[in-house]
Amino acid sequence: MRGHPLPGHRGGLILTYARSVILACGGAGQVFSHTTNPEVATGDGHAMAYRAGAQLRDMEFMQFHPTALHSPENPTLLLTEALRGEGAYLVDGEGRRFMVEADPRAELAPRDVVVRRMKDIMERDREDNVWLDARHLECAFLRERFPTVYGGLARRGFDLCRELIPISPASHYYIGGVVTDLWGRTSVPGLYAAGETSSTGVHGANRLASNSLLEGLVFGDRVVRDLNRFLSKPGESVRRVKSDLQKGEWPGNDAASVRAVRRRLGEVMSRRCGIVRTRAGLEQVSREVAELHGSLRPPARDVEELQLFNLLTVASLMVQGASVREESRGVHLRDDFPERDDEHWSRHVTLRYDQQTDGALVKVRSRKVDSR
Ligand SMILES: Cc1cc2nc3c(=O)[nH]c(=O)nc-3n(C[C@H](O)[C@H](O)[C@H](O)COP(=O)(O)OP(=O)(O)OC[C@H]3O[C@@H](n4cnc5c(N)ncnc54)[C@H](O)[C@@H]3O)c2cc1C
Repeated sequence: MRGHPLPGHRGGLILTYARSVILACGGAGQVFSHTTNPEVATGDGHAMAYRAGAQLRDMEFMQFHPTALHSPENPTLLLTEALRGEGAYLVDGEGRRFMVEADPRAELAPRDVVVRRMKDIMERDREDNVWLDARHLECAFLRERFPTVYGGLARRGFDLCRELIPISPASHYYIGGVVTDLWGRTSVPGLYAAGETSSTGVHGANRLASNSLLEGLVFGDRVVRDLNRFLSKPGESVRRVKSDLQKGEWPGNDAASVRAVRRRLGEVMSRRCGIVRTRAGLEQVSREVAELHGSLRPPARDVEELQLFNLLTVASLMVQGASVREESRGVHLRDDFPERDDEHWSRHVTLRYDQQTDGALVKVRSRKVDSR
């Protein structure tokens, strides 16, 4: 390993050479303005892998969680699914349970079904939220069974026992990611990916709650075991690659414009590439993401700017994946192609960086995926 710091930069960028790198940077929920994901979930791993030429896939699949507190906080408070499991209702502004007529499983329908219905109700009522109603459940039970949610709401001035709680869908889990084999190896030799950054193939077009535990435990362990094998063999000396890090002072972008672009990116992605997508909306958001990117002066100078460039990269890949997939499947809902189409789309959409066009090379994998 050999590195040298580039002087004069806030955030202390350091160029490091290594025989192997594991990307385990989590998800990219921060692409959207309303998210349960921590502030660091800016798709850094996805964007770095893309720049390194690795293959990514299923970038159109972002899972939204139905019951996030409707609040401007970032991240917002997640109100666990178990509340509905214990009998809490979802109601509209008139107090009507809108899931009952939408699905035989009512409030316990899968996340994508609930989220889509919530969106319809919010549009119908011209509201930004619906409500979680736990008032009919015993208060002592709620406090004991859900201390984190109860306390989190209380700190924000809400009483779960006595009040309706405003909720709206929030980006929650990024199914799309860096393609790996079953040992966490990406398509770039020596580059590994694990956790939410990766696409190992365990989730399909949707994700069962708590499967990230599987992802972290199983693949984290497998990556380390393979890495030990990889590093125990004598390897080539580290190949130097051309870096776009420039020495000297960079002007960068002022903090206010970085914040403004990030806010705007969240808004346009939520509006046009969120729960439900259409061709026209995707074309528009594609232009807007490119304009936002063009409004910034590269290279990034500090962490906030690096995160923003990565968010823009991930947003662009998400929009491209969503535009290509002309069907509705799992968490990807197209208003203009509302049916699932196994014949044409039981396939992965893969993307990788193309040097010739300085853009993404998008491919629909020809091999059919077993989607039973
Ligand atoms: C509110 C909430 C509740 C959830 N509940 C559940 C649940 O009940 N069950 C379940 O299975 N899953 C749950 N999930 C999903 C699960 O938490 C995540 O999928 C999982 O934590 C991802 O693990 P990870 O190791 O890939 O990433 P993370 O746990 O997000 O860790 C990524 C780490 O990388 C760091 N990082 C990011 N970028 C960089 C960078 N550029 N350089 C250096 N470091 C970087 C971050 O700071 C962070 O420490 C929940 C998620 C949320 C947000």
